[in-house]
Amino acid sequence: MQTVSFPFARACDECGDPIDGLASAAGRRVCNKLTCLGAAQLRERRAREQARLEAARRQLTVIGVDPEATPWSLVPSNRNPAVPLSAESRAAFIANLSESVAAARRGDGSTEVPEWLRGRPVEEAEAEPLLAGCIACRGYCCLAGGTKAFLSPSAIRRVWPSGPEAANEEEIIETYRRHLPDEHIEDGCVFQGAEGCVLPRDLRSPTCNLFLCPDMRVARTTWLESDSPGAPYHFVSVPELGDPEVAEVATVRIPALVNP
Ligand code: SF4
Ligand code: SF4
Ligand SMILES: [Zn+2]
Repeated sequence: MQTVSFPFARACDECGDPIDGLASAAGRRVCNKLTCLGAAQLRERRAREQARLEAARRQLTVIGVDPEATPWSLVPSNRNPAVPLSAESRAAFIANLSESVAAARRGDGSTEVPEWLRGRPVEEAEAEPLLAGCIACRGYCCLAGGTKAFLSPSAIRRVWPSGPEAANEEEIIETYRRHLPDEHIEDGCVFQGAEGCVLPRDLRSPTCNLFLCPDMRVARTTWLESDSPGAPYHFVSVPELGDPEVAEVATVRIPALVNP
């Protein structure tokens, strides 16, 4: 058998050992060790984050905002277009929901809010500014909703406080079916419309109602520590993957918070 030789084996950027031929030919700069692959991934993530921050700073400067003197934070960016909600996605959602409702009626799932969703409750004064950031982002986190919309058995048990056992199963499913839109965001949640979530808040899962991405949590900490309520605050929406191009800047006022 003919062997292919790679005369110029590259050295791993992390540990200095030679990189195997195929990886080297594919342009990889690290060897196959998990530690080296992990370190390279981390470096890439940091470089991407840095590129996002730089893109945001440039855009703020263009619109006359000094990024060193005015508080701001990055938010992600969903750029998927609105497309018709397919019959397959509808059917998959109804099938998933039916399973969750049946499980909830059997008593599966906890009614406790999971630890990772708990935190300082969002104050009324924060709701609008936070929403402006999410609008600029266009619901990047909702892309994960898919055909389940986070409606697990626990979510169903919390959404129906009288207990899903007491409600008619078909009635629960019909309530959600009625809200399915004609169009949704491509590859996103079935309820993710071009203008945001089309499901009424009281029918959404606790995950939908309580989740805040890390970028939003940074913004809330800044507001909490700010001694200048009413001053401008900017959300700069830049995609986490792909080109670090600014999608939108939303300007809000730092809310006056009462519950540290
Ligand atoms: S919570 Fe974060 S990821 Fe989700 S819509 Fe808001 S800004 Fe985007
Ligand atoms: S139900 Fe609404 S808030 Fe929840 S993931 Fe879907 S679009 Fe987002
Ligand atoms: Zn290595």
